[in-house]
Amino acid sequence: MNRTIYMDNNATTRVAPEVVEVMQPYFSEFYGNPSSMHTFGGQVGDAIVRARAKIAHLLNADPDEIVFTSCGTESDSTAILSAIRANPAKRHIITTRVEHPAVKNLAENLHAFTGHKYRVTQLAVDSEGMLDLDEYEKAFSEDTAAVSVMWANNETGVIFPVQQMAEIAKAHGVLFHTDAVQAVGKVPIDLKKTAIDFLSLSGHKLHAPKGIGALYVRKGTPFTPFLIGGHQEKGRRGGTENTASIIALGKACELAAARMTVENTRVKHLRDKLENGLLTSIPNAIRNGHPSTRLPNTSNISFEYIEGEAILLHLNTVGICASSGSACTSGSLEPSHVMRAMGVPFTAAHGSIRFSLSIYNTEEEVDFVLEHLPPIIDKLRNMSPFWHNRHKS
Ligand SMILES: *Cc1c(COP(=O)(O)O)cnc(C)c1O
Repeated sequence: MNRTIYMDNNATTRVAPEVVEVMQPYFSEFYGNPSSMHTFGGQVGDAIVRARAKIAHLLNADPDEIVFTSCGTESDSTAILSAIRANPAKRHIITTRVEHPAVKNLAENLHAFTGHKYRVTQLAVDSEGMLDLDEYEKAFSEDTAAVSVMWANNETGVIFPVQQMAEIAKAHGVLFHTDAVQAVGKVPIDLKKTAIDFLSLSGHKLHAPKGIGALYVRKGTPFTPFLIGGHQEKGRRGGTENTASIIALGKACELAAARMTVENTRVKHLRDKLENGLLTSIPNAIRNGHPSTRLPNTSNISFEYIEGEAILLHLNTVGICASSGSACTSGSLEPSHVMRAMGVPFTAAHGSIRFSLSIYNTEEEVDFVLEHLPPIIDKLRNMSPFWHNRHKS
C-alpha cells in the first residue's frame, strides 16, 4: 500500500500546485538578476514588487515593511539581533519556555556567548500551555532590550495573546518580536492594528517552498541587517534575491488570504473530528494544550504509558505521517521542552503525538486514522510493563 496520509503540516507543507506553476518560469524564462540595469532583469524586479505586495496584504502591512529572508530561522535571528543592537546598553531579553529552537537557542546562546552579559527571562506556561500576563509585566526592568514571543506554538498550536503583549512592551519602550511562522495563513493577522515591531514567517509552513522566509519590520523601527552585503532589500538583507521562491511565497500568501475563512472551518472540523474520535475511543488519552485558544489545524495528544516513537513507527507502516513531541537525545528519550514546560506527567509526556492538518487532508483520511490508531495503541500497551503496572505506584 503506497498511500500517504500526511498529517505533519507543522513540520512542513506540500507546495501548492498553483505555487509550483507560478514559480517555474523564474528558473527557465525570467532568470535575470532583479538588480540588473537591463529590462530582462527589471521584469524580475517587477515580479518581486508584486509578490511583496501580496505578503503585505495578508498581514495588512506596507510592502516596504517586508524583508525577504532565507527562512523562518533567519527572520527570527535578524529580528532579535537587530532589536538588541538598537539598545546595546540594555542586556535583558524576555521570551518563553516554549519557543521554537530558532528563538530559544538563539536567546540561550546570546547569554552564553556574551560571557553572561545578556540575561534571558523565559516565561513559564501553565498545564494548558498558556502564559501568565502578570508574570510577563513583572519581568520588565530598566535593562530590558527586547521581547520575543511566538504567536502560535508549533507543538501544541496554542495561541499567545501577542497583540496585548506587544502593547505592554510598547508601554515599557521595549521592541517586540513575534515568531508567527505557525500563525501566518492560519489565523487572521492585521499588523496595522498592533504594536508588533517584528514578525517572522516562513514559506514552507504555508504551502510555499523551503528556504524562503520574510520578516516584517514596522516602519520607523530601528533596524540592523543580519546578512551584510549588497544593497538588496533596500540594504536590509544582502544577497541576490531567491526570485522563484519569492514569487512562490507571494502566491502562497495570496492563496492563504483567499482560503483563510472557508478552509479553516473545514480543517478545524477535520481536526476536531480526529481529536474527539481518538479521545473517546482510546482510554488514557489526553489532549495537550488549551482546547480553544489554539490553531485550527493542530492536535497534540498523549497516549499514556507508551512511547511516541513507537506509535509513529506503527503509524508509518500504514502510511500515516505525524510527529512526536519528544526528541531523541543521545540515546535517552527526553520529552520535548514544550511538554516539560507544561508539566505534562512523565507517563504522558513520552507518548505525545502531534497531528497537524492542512487543506489537503480529507474526511476519509481522518476516518482512516480513527480506524488504524486505536489498535496500534492497544497492541503497544499490551507490550508495555508501564501499562500493566499503571495502578501499582
Ligand atoms: C518551522 C518553524 C520555524 C523555522 O522556520 P524555518 O523556515 O524552517 O527556518 C520557526 N518557528 C516556528 C514556530 C516554526 O514552526
